[in-house]
Amino acid sequence: MLTIELDRCDGCGACVEVCPEGAISLVDGVARIDSGSCTECEACVQVCPTGAIRVAKPIAVREEPAAAVAERLRPSTLATLVGATLSFIGSQLLPRAADAIVNALDRRLSKKPADESREAAPTTEKRGGRRQRRRGGRG
Ligand code: SF4
Ligand code: SF4
Repeated sequence: MLTIELDRCDGCGACVEVCPEGAISLVDGVARIDSGSCTECEACVQVCPTGAIRVAKPIAVREEPAAAVAERLRPSTLATLVGATLSFIGSQLLPRAADAIVNALDRRLSKKPADESREAAPTTEKRGGRRQRRRGGRG
């Protein structure tokens, strides 16, 4: 199939003269090809002084059998194993780890008040004792 780059066509008419099929005409000062009449002999391409006429080659499409496509898209064994491992970790190990952390925090929090009261008692006695001694000295 031929195409004309309109901004390169200067309307010289050389292609119109050379076309054996009469497939090219000038419309509004630029060449226009009737693709129904064109036999793609490319005589116009050779004669165009500005290179405005281009041959558009069809793009070759390589067809791949469906079985090959399915094989290419199939997940690899490694990907399957990684997926299964991640799934196991997500469903089994993470909830257990979360339980263990919560239990550990529970135990730690339930111990704390007893420890604090044990540590607080001697401090109060010492202060009280010192005060008593001072009072005694003054009096
Ligand atoms: S390729 Fe040949 S038939 Fe087609 S427009 Fe050009 S000169 Fe005419
Ligand atoms: S020969 Fe080229 S520049 Fe001249 S009219 Fe045809 S397409 Fe346009």
